[in-house]
Amino acid sequence: MNTIEFIQKIRNGEIDPAENIARVMEEISKLNKEYNHFNMIADDAEKQAKNINLKGRLAGLPVSVKDCICVKGMESRSGSKILSGYKPVFDATAVRKVREEGGIIIGKTSQDEFGFGSFSSNMGEGFETPLNPVDKKRACGGSSGGSGGITAKISFPHISLGESTGGSIASPASFCGVTGLCPTYGRVSRYGLIDYGNSLDKIGPMAKSVSGAALMLEIIAGHDKNESTSLDKPVDAYTDYLQKDIKGMRIGVIREAFGEGIDDEVSEKVKDAISRLEDMGAKTEEVSLPLTMKYGIPAYYLISTSEASTNLAKFCGMRYGKTEELEDGFNKYFSKVRSSNLGEEAKRRIMLGTFARMAGYRDAYYIKALKVRSMIIKEYKKVFKKFDLLASPTMPSIAPKFSDIEKLSPLQQYMMDVLTVGPNIAGLPHLSVNAGELKGMPVGMMMVGDHLEEKKLVQAGGKLE
Ligand code: GLN
Repeated sequence: MNTIEFIQKIRNGEIDPAENIARVMEEISKLNKEYNHFNMIADDAEKQAKNINLKGRLAGLPVSVKDCICVKGMESRSGSKILSGYKPVFDATAVRKVREEGGIIIGKTSQDEFGFGSFSSNMGEGFETPLNPVDKKRACGGSSGGSGGITAKISFPHISLGESTGGSIASPASFCGVTGLCPTYGRVSRYGLIDYGNSLDKIGPMAKSVSGAALMLEIIAGHDKNESTSLDKPVDAYTDYLQKDIKGMRIGVIREAFGEGIDDEVSEKVKDAISRLEDMGAKTEEVSLPLTMKYGIPAYYLISTSEASTNLAKFCGMRYGKTEELEDGFNKYFSKVRSSNLGEEAKRRIMLGTFARMAGYRDAYYIKALKVRSMIIKEYKKVFKKFDLLASPTMPSIAPKFSDIEKLSPLQQYMMDVLTVGPNIAGLPHLSVNAGELKGMPVGMMMVGDHLEEKKLVQAGGKLE
């Protein structure tokens, strides 16, 4: 039964939401002992199920939420020990909308600390690493690893809210074999999202199918008076595009994304998927994005760490989360709180970001990266004059083994995002769908659309599925 049929059955009274959720909670508690897809499982899900909006568009649907998205009354730590004990007094706008439509919040999914990672292997102290749903020796991808893992593993209809700064929805979707839809920057309100890089962060759905992702986006998208960067533009009926023909749709196949550094077998799988789109009437042509593919990674890692290093300054042991003994004045106190409660990768990013925007280096690094970002946006805009969508693999490989990840330097880890940083720095919507299997592991294909063209992604993704 797919998500849409399930919701229909709840609305008709054929399925009892409380009975269903009791079974869901039993399953996820069991799964979590083995896979660690949740940092926190809701203890009030059955209570929520008794009071839902039975006419809502998500009536009775279990929804998991990445840890960085605030859920009222539920410890929301963004995967960091420094936020231990922080229980938001409000719901993020996306969560509020889910509840208004009858969705039931089942838990907070695991992630790299504050979103700093591509494998969900940079976990804050006290957090368990989520394991790949297909092979436990491998990573879920990151940073929305728990969302990807549980979406693949759960046997019930369910959708997760993930978050992407540089690829965190697409990466776990690809490694876990699910659909991840990262919307245009500003399409979904960031109100209540614990920030990583404000000019980059997006909340988006992860689902077993394109239809589930389209439905969820329809609900969470839209302007929010609490969030000034949320776009005041009408929201499309994405689900109407699921069955639309793709005859004549122009798809640009990104040349550099099939070249050096990308696994040949992954490339082959994705090319097969592209030829299926051709069989259904899409017109494909090779296209080159030289600037984006070459400078996307350095620009992204300079901008994102610069923003992260300022955002993390608020975690100083005064307002939120962990505190330490106060001695020797406030400066010592702040250092103590931060050095004993942030993980290694978070500290690395604070140092890198602080350096990049320091007087004397700012022009050479941070400002230059912003200029490169503008050029990357121009490069995409030019290409979108000719194409409706762009296609490439989502990740350069299948989900790696933890034993191989350990051997990678931080820089090699950052390189995993080579295909996803482009649309993320340009604020473009992108969709990762499963394109087949390699050695039993899922392979993801990514499509990128122009700003606010999520509907075209749904159209092509829906056809492919
Ligand atoms: N891997 C990227 C990073 O570490 C992306 C993470 C994200 O999108 N949250 O910054």
